[in-house]
Amino acid sequence: MARNSAYPNARLNALSQPFAQKLSAEWKGTSLTGGTTKNFIGGQFVESKTDEWSDVHDPSTQTLLSRIPQTTSEEFEQAVQAASKAFKTWSRASVLTRQRFVLELQHLLRQPANADAIAQSIVLEQGKTLADARGDLLRGLQVVETAIAATTTLLGDKIEVSRDMDTYTRKLPLGVCASIAPFNFPAMIPLWTIPMALVTGNTLIVKPSERDPGAAMIIAELCQRAGLPDGVLNIVHGKVPTVNAICDHPAIRAISFVGGDRAGRHIFNRGTQNGKRVQSNMGAKNHAVLMPDANKNLALNSIISAAFGAAGQRCMAISVAVLVGEAQSWLGDLIERSKKLKVTGGFESGADLGPVISPQAKERILGLVASAKEEGGKIVLDGTGLTVPEYPDGNFIGPTIIEAGTSMKCYKEEIFGPVLLVLKADNLDDAIDIINNNTYGNGAVVFTQSGATGRKFEIEVNVGQIGINVPVPVPLPMFAWSGNKGSHLGDIGFYGKSGINFYTQNKTTTSLWRAEDAVGNRATTAMPTHT
Ligand code: NAD
Repeated sequence: MARNSAYPNARLNALSQPFAQKLSAEWKGTSLTGGTTKNFIGGQFVESKTDEWSDVHDPSTQTLLSRIPQTTSEEFEQAVQAASKAFKTWSRASVLTRQRFVLELQHLLRQPANADAIAQSIVLEQGKTLADARGDLLRGLQVVETAIAATTTLLGDKIEVSRDMDTYTRKLPLGVCASIAPFNFPAMIPLWTIPMALVTGNTLIVKPSERDPGAAMIIAELCQRAGLPDGVLNIVHGKVPTVNAICDHPAIRAISFVGGDRAGRHIFNRGTQNGKRVQSNMGAKNHAVLMPDANKNLALNSIISAAFGAAGQRCMAISVAVLVGEAQSWLGDLIERSKKLKVTGGFESGADLGPVISPQAKERILGLVASAKEEGGKIVLDGTGLTVPEYPDGNFIGPTIIEAGTSMKCYKEEIFGPVLLVLKADNLDDAIDIINNNTYGNGAVVFTQSGATGRKFEIEVNVGQIGINVPVPVPLPMFAWSGNKGSHLGDIGFYGKSGINFYTQNKTTTSLWRAEDAVGNRATTAMPTHT
């Protein structure tokens, strides 16, 4: 078996190894024992012919799990051709046929063996805890379940605009679409797009994150088992060349992107310049405002969970706590409670957070913590030196809390790790100003017992997703994702009604069928007046 050259002795421990072996044996597209991850093109799991591969490592041990191909141009073209061919029939399949596919996918994703496989693959490749990995899938599954309503959400409009003249609109699919995913939600983010794009009659090319492609491969196999015709869903792997091929291919009509700012801006610009519809969800800095009248226990536990869960690698993680007035005296309790979190491998019982995704990510996070120190920040809880004896090579960082200022680099940049910045504000207005001056616009939350305070916050704060005593206010998929400002480019959000709109275009027909032309009219003997 091939090994990680930087960590030649790395191997999975007795807890993880059986999962890796079982998953590799049972699923066609993925390997977690050092083999290759396949492309999924035209209904086949195919080994790439590329000579460029990149490695997928277990972030807890650095064990080489899989190698993913830099899909060649010929293979990419095959995927687009397969999707274009399948579009001709899938777009004409009845909405009931497409709904039945989504119903069957939902059923398969809910089966414990399948859900377990996806969650285990996420723990191995991404590092999050098993409970959190199950949540990753569940939040995607909720999009699948909402997509089942397509028989209602795709209804068009019709009105008689003049005598015997009708105008009506139909919501029709766009064609071949593409979805580019980040590493932090390997199941949820592909499931933001797969059910929505397919139930509306499009065909789709998914490019998972090169760091954790396994969950998407299992989902693809389940789509096939759910009866999806060949070519309707295709998966191609790779890095920037695959992304650029998606942005440039004339047959691709729309791109959904979720990830960091640099890639998001690049894809939005390149995709829209090529005439594609693009939705781009990017980075974030989400603030939690702690008012002195808050339920202290709820507020502190919520903030700790939202700041350090998934090792802070959620785009809706709380990364800044703004302590208002007397709530500033709660900092000591916040630190003490954060210290108690258990940092270890994701399969370990009682694990609260696992490692960050890669040694490079860890280095970057440590660099930002160091920059805070240099700029006068106070590290009041320092998890940067944490070691986990059972996982000495893992990318672990313990919960870290920094008293910071808004001019510091660690405040201006997204950290994307288990690091919580604490700011102080004299009053609610000052806290709201801080949030509104931040360039990002994903989420902000307030903890208060006052309805009036909550309402003022909700109205005056300019971000897309507000929580009132709710730490991670990710909208369920009957609503749409609504991040704004620097966290989003494009006009149409993910899933919900927006998802239907993103993946459809209206066709409007006006028809005239005069009553006097109907077959079977009685003869009239009146003098014709030509009116
Ligand atoms: P990333 O931008 O590094 O990668 C995302 C995707 O873009 C990957 O598929 C990758 O292959 C591709 N990519 C990376 N660099 C590229 C480049 N220079 N040119 C073209 N393509 C490129 O993001 P990540 O590290 O995988 O994910 C973390 C980021 O995603 C964080 O910034 C997080 O806030 C963000 N995120 C946002 C949301 C949201 O809804 N706003 C949700 C989840 C994650």
